[in-house]
Amino acid sequence: MVSNYSIILKQDNLSSEEYKQLYKYLIKDDLVNIKFDLNHIDKVISRLKYPSKVVKGTFRRCPRQFQFARIFDLWIQKKDETTIWDVYGKNTHMIFNKIWDNISYKKIIESKTEKLLSYYIYQKCMNFIPEADKKIKLYPSIFKQYSDYEAFRIYSIFKELGRVKVKKYIIPLYRELRIENHDRYEVGVVDVMHTLTTDEIAIGDYKTGKAKYYEWKWNPRISQWAADELEKSDTINWDKITIDFELGSYYNLTLGTKKIYKVLDDENNKPYLKELEYLQITKGFVVYINDWKNTFKYIPLQLNMLNNVNGIKSDMIECYNSGIFPLKVRNDCFDFCPYIDICIKDKAWQNWFNKIDPFYKNKLDKLLSILEVN
Ligand code: SF4
Repeated sequence: MVSNYSIILKQDNLSSEEYKQLYKYLIKDDLVNIKFDLNHIDKVISRLKYPSKVVKGTFRRCPRQFQFARIFDLWIQKKDETTIWDVYGKNTHMIFNKIWDNISYKKIIESKTEKLLSYYIYQKCMNFIPEADKKIKLYPSIFKQYSDYEAFRIYSIFKELGRVKVKKYIIPLYRELRIENHDRYEVGVVDVMHTLTTDEIAIGDYKTGKAKYYEWKWNPRISQWAADELEKSDTINWDKITIDFELGSYYNLTLGTKKIYKVLDDENNKPYLKELEYLQITKGFVVYINDWKNTFKYIPLQLNMLNNVNGIKSDMIECYNSGIFPLKVRNDCFDFCPYIDICIKDKAWQNWFNKIDPFYKNKLDKLLSILEVN
């Protein structure tokens, strides 16, 4: 039997038998009734063929949530009002990218001090914020941190190489680079790429949320003694695992010398592909802007980082082929998962329900009674 994954990879010109086979495995579910729809399946297949880092992240958190979001494509009623959190991450990333179109290289080179350079970058960032939004405290604080980080990065280059012929190290090589890797079936957007002073390329990801630390000892809240003890013990460093997954995803995305494309937009805003030149990408960094001093490190990209990513990919393939997407029930499902109302009808919840703490049991009781009324 041809596995579902082979069908997904084939994608074009599927026979009706093949479509039916996919439908049977991917859409069959007692909880959700979605009529067989060729267009729907078509869209689903192309999404499954090229899973991005975000998509793999969703699967890693909960395969069932991935199934709801990526296969059933369920529409979840959104709140009417847009909160600052809905736009914050997107806006800040957009500005980290766009300011480089407005920054003067001459001004950087002629800057008198690191502090003044930071202020110059900060002003450029704030110029993007509409007057009314400037009062939102989040923006000034995140841009202050970002500007300090950039000024520090640039002054480190000055210290090492001086101020002559350093443009290629200072100005990012790429920003918001959309990539399709047709060799490894990967897609993704890279926040930034820098040419390091060794002429290697580092691939970077900006994070604006709570800081994670690749090594215990980088965490300012852990003393040197505790860090050494943790290193000696078998304690798992979950943050390292998460960052390895992030870096492994980028590594996977850019690995190979052929069939790797930049996704560009033509004058009508239609995407087209252009081959990406070969880049010697050897390092990566995930900089948590809120605590950049302790999280900004160039980490060598290693093949073992791919294990985590490939493991998730093979788990995904197993789910595609079996049609079973297990639930990862957690206490915070109620707070963050938009599919809780549907998911809760699954029998697996009953076991969990019997063991949970009374606070959540209460919440669940309420939810179930509302569902019964409806
Ligand atoms: S409610 Fe929890 S278990 Fe269900 S899909 Fe969402 S994250 Fe997964």
